[in-house]
Amino acid sequence: MSTPAYDAGRLALMLNELRLPTIARLWPGFAERSDKEGWQATRLIGALLEHELAERAKRRIERHRAESHLDPTKTLATFDFSMVPMVSKAHVMALATGDSWLEKGATALLFGPPGAGKSHLGSAIGHALIDAGYRVLFTRTSELVQKLQAARQSLQLPSALAKLDRFDLIILDDLSYARKDQAETSVLFELIAERYERRSLLITANQPFSGWNDVFPDPGMTVAAIDRLVHHSTIFEMNVESYRRRTASDKQNNRRRQSSGDNQQQGATTMTG
Ligand code: ADP
Ligand code: MG
Repeated sequence: MSTPAYDAGRLALMLNELRLPTIARLWPGFAERSDKEGWQATRLIGALLEHELAERAKRRIERHRAESHLDPTKTLATFDFSMVPMVSKAHVMALATGDSWLEKGATALLFGPPGAGKSHLGSAIGHALIDAGYRVLFTRTSELVQKLQAARQSLQLPSALAKLDRFDLIILDDLSYARKDQAETSVLFELIAERYERRSLLITANQPFSGWNDVFPDPGMTVAAIDRLVHHSTIFEMNVESYRRRTASDKQNNRRRQSSGDNQQQGATTMTG
């Protein structure tokens, strides 16, 4: 003796009301299998709920990726660690899991000349952290400074800073370009002080600390900012020649080698440099 079936239209309405789109999509197939194979009711309910939860986690990560403004192509998978032998891959991988540094509100600092791969490596860490469930914002430092200054002018700075709190990590790209002649940058100091030991920052800069006098309005503030940033920090010094220049000259060398028939003498001369 079978019990009467539940009205499918009403089921659809309720699942919509409860915002369970995955169950709404999957239940007819699951119910059919369950009937055919004689599943226990708990198995059917469990299977549907597990799918809803998994899809929800996936959508959340997609939302986090979209709000992060990370370049989708700059990931760990596309980063060639052999180009920066002084950077420990194991150390980067540890940061990329989130580990304890985000909980501590610690800082990561990436220094190196233009083209060294700082922005790429910072983005790659950001993507991995999003995969691990964290929320990340990637921004050019100058852009964020401008936004915060506008907020200050309309007396909204505290709420603007509070809004940034939802991010476990803010990647401030190109700190050295947020110069004081561009604008008065004490908002940057306020961001650093506000997040200190609570929320993490990852900063990329062409110049290490000695060149930061231009970044903040006065030397006292520069010292105070650096003091907070280095207190709990990981520093990567990426002192390598520009990746673009190196890959361009590799291509050129390859072409030269090919056109010279790769004869041994010429091969030896092109190997240098
Ligand atoms: P920086 O921020 O230090 O000026 P970028 O991260 O913007 O340098 O790197 C410049 C270009 O070279 C980018 O297109 C980047 O993807 C690429 N690049 C730099 N380093 C690497 C690397 N180690 N592996 C792969 N691509 C790299
Ligand atoms: Mg950069």
